[in-house]
Amino acid sequence: MTALPTSLSGKDWAIRTSGLRKSFGKTVALRGIDLTVPEGATYVLVGPNGAGKTTALNIILDLVRADGGQVEALGLDSRRDGPALRAQIGYVPEAQKWECNWMRVATLLAYHGQYFSSWDDEYAARLVKRLEVPLDRRYGKLSKGQARRVQVVLALAHRPPLLVLDEPTDGLDPLARETTLSVLAEHMAEYPTTLLISTHLVHETERLADHMGVLNAGGLRTQVPVSDLQEMLRRYHAQVPEGWSGAGVLDGSVVRRSRNGREIQWTVWGDESMVRASLTESGAAVQDVRALSLEEAAISLLSDEETSHVEA
Ligand code: ATP
Repeated sequence: MTALPTSLSGKDWAIRTSGLRKSFGKTVALRGIDLTVPEGATYVLVGPNGAGKTTALNIILDLVRADGGQVEALGLDSRRDGPALRAQIGYVPEAQKWECNWMRVATLLAYHGQYFSSWDDEYAARLVKRLEVPLDRRYGKLSKGQARRVQVVLALAHRPPLLVLDEPTDGLDPLARETTLSVLAEHMAEYPTTLLISTHLVHETERLADHMGVLNAGGLRTQVPVSDLQEMLRRYHAQVPEGWSGAGVLDGSVVRRSRNGREIQWTVWGDESMVRASLTESGAAVQDVRALSLEEAAISLLSDEETSHVEA
C-alpha cells in the first residue's frame, strides 16, 4: 500500500524549502521541513498552535533566520536576496502591531505604496471600500479585525506574484471573514498569484485551496494536492471479528484509527478498492466508506493516535 506522501511532484516552484530547521532556545520550532509550493498554487498550511507555521513563513520572508536549511522563493535565495524577495511578496503577518502604529490608515497606505512600483491606488481604494477600512483612524488604535483588514489591503494592492498570509481571517467577525475570503478569491481569479496561507480554519479555505500541507510539532506530516486528498483519503467503517489482529498490509497507510469493541473506523490513504480488499482479507466486514471534507482530512491528519471510541 502507498504511504502518505510528504513531497509534491513538479518542477515549477514558487517556494521550495529544504531541511529548514529552527529552535528558540530549547524549543524546537521546525525539524527540517521540505515545503514546496507550486507556482500558481493556493497552498494551505494547516497545524495546531505552536506547530511552527508562523516560524516557517517568517523564515521564507527572511524575517527570522533559520538554524539550517535553505529557502528559494520566486527564484531567489531568501537569505541572500531578502529585500528583493519581500518586494515581490504581499504579506499579512500574524502580529498586528508595528512601528507605524501612530499613522492614520490613509497615511499608512500612501507610505506603504511608495515602496512598491506596482502599487495601484485605484485598486487600493476599491479594497478599502470592500473591506470597510477606516482611513481616518490611527493604525495602533484599530481593533484586531480592523487592523487585519488594513493588512489585507497592504498585501494585495501591489498585486504581488506571491502572497503569504498568516491566518488572514484571525479576529474577523463572520461577515468580514466572508468578505475577505471573497476578495481573496476574486484577486486570485483576476491576477496570476501564488498563495501560501496558514490557518486553523480549514473549512474557510476549502473553496480556495488546491494544495494542503500539514505541519505538526515542527514536522511536515504531509503535503498533497487537494484533488489527491479527495481521491485517496477515505474513512472506512467496519465490523471486525473477536480477537481481530488488524490489517498488517495497511500499516503505514492508516492515517487514523479508532475502535469501539468490534467496530472500527479507520481513515486510510490509498486506492479505495485495494483498501477494501485488504480489510476484507483481514476478516473485517466493511460497512461504509466515505470521502472526507478538507477540514475532516486535516483533523484526521493531525490526530493520528489510536482512540478507543468511534468518531461521529
Ligand atoms: P499558532 O497557530 O499558535 O500561531 P504556529 O504554528 O504559528 O502557532 P509558531 O509561532 O511558529 O507556531 O511557534 C512554533 C514554536 O516556536 C512554539 O513552540 C513557539 O512557542 C516557539 N516560538 C516561536 N517564536 C518564538 C520566539 N520568538 N521565541 C521563543 N519561542 C518561539
